[in-house]
Amino acid sequence: MGGHNGGVPELPEVQALADDLAARLSGRAVARVEVAAFSALKTYDPPVTALHGLLVDGVTRHGKFIDVEASGLHLVMHLARGGWVRWRDAIPAAPLRPGKGPQAARVVLDDDSGFDVTEAGTQKRLAIYVVRDPAHVPGISRLGPDPLAADFTVAALRRILSTAGRTQVKGTLRDQSVVAGIGNAYSDEVLHAARLSPYKPSSTLTEAESQALYDAIRDVLADAIERSAGLAASELKAEKKTGLRVHGRTGESCPVCGDTVREVSFADRSMQYCPTCQTGGKPLADRRLSRLLK
Ligand SMILES: [Zn+2]
Repeated sequence: MGGHNGGVPELPEVQALADDLAARLSGRAVARVEVAAFSALKTYDPPVTALHGLLVDGVTRHGKFIDVEASGLHLVMHLARGGWVRWRDAIPAAPLRPGKGPQAARVVLDDDSGFDVTEAGTQKRLAIYVVRDPAHVPGISRLGPDPLAADFTVAALRRILSTAGRTQVKGTLRDQSVVAGIGNAYSDEVLHAARLSPYKPSSTLTEAESQALYDAIRDVLADAIERSAGLAASELKAEKKTGLRVHGRTGESCPVCGDTVREVSFADRSMQYCPTCQTGGKPLADRRLSRLLK
């Protein structure tokens, strides 16, 4: 599957999934957890069976990770590309069969409702962890600041940009150890809103550009969260796609200036931008193509 059929769930979708699960799991206990894709389970101690019978305390988000806390244990999920959560009012009686279909794991609750964690496509990158502390998940312990946290100020962003040096600003935004929760889609959206070239070296942003980037990060994410709030998991992908202004919209008109949205392709993904809004009207070199032409 391509990156445009939803792509990797990013901060707004993961927040909405966590909120949706929090409401559904509130007051319930975990009856059992079934794992069909054994490669997705990254931990063995404590075993998944340690969750059986535990009362769910809450569901939260760390970057792009979902954290189901149950009586001191944490079931942590990183959905990756093609990964999703599918709620079921009534779990089928037959247990999950290993190795078949997109279902990687299933959480069954004490009222026989529950959810499947699924992964479409052939790239198996879904990751599930059972830990006593979410910081035991390497991807969580490495996370940079959450861009919606109160202490993520424009000064904090300025420090991040100067530390990132010549790294292109697109890469800086996507680096989970620098800023948590922004991926390929929302970095395109943020840069478009901030009118910045994705290739601009991070440390060269002026004070005004840093402020514009900061405002765009907060506005784009807050707007996406507002649109996702209250939606069920099944409705979120369509909502995400509707809300995107340039990402996944190659060849369409920029909603700000009317120019044609262009893309740069990489082996496994592509990014989109508006030349008029972001690069002084000049198309960016497609690095994959230019490398082939040398
Ligand atoms: Zn434009």
